[in-house]
Amino acid sequence: MNPYFMSGIISTLFGLKRTCPKCKRDQVVPSDKKHEKVYCKFCGAGIPPAKR
Ligand SMILES: [Zn+2]
Repeated sequence: MNPYFMSGIISTLFGLKRTCPKCKRDQVVPSDKKHEKVYCKFCGAGIPPAKR
């Protein structure tokens, strides 16, 4: 298992990974922004926090 793959799994488990609704690209948000709206680093669209 390579490190990149592991970090992807960990990010998913902790809910830090979000898919931009506009450009559909995945990105990892900082843990302190977990419950806040973040802006896509690719296109600048707002990505709301995932609801559970
Ligand atoms: Zn985007």
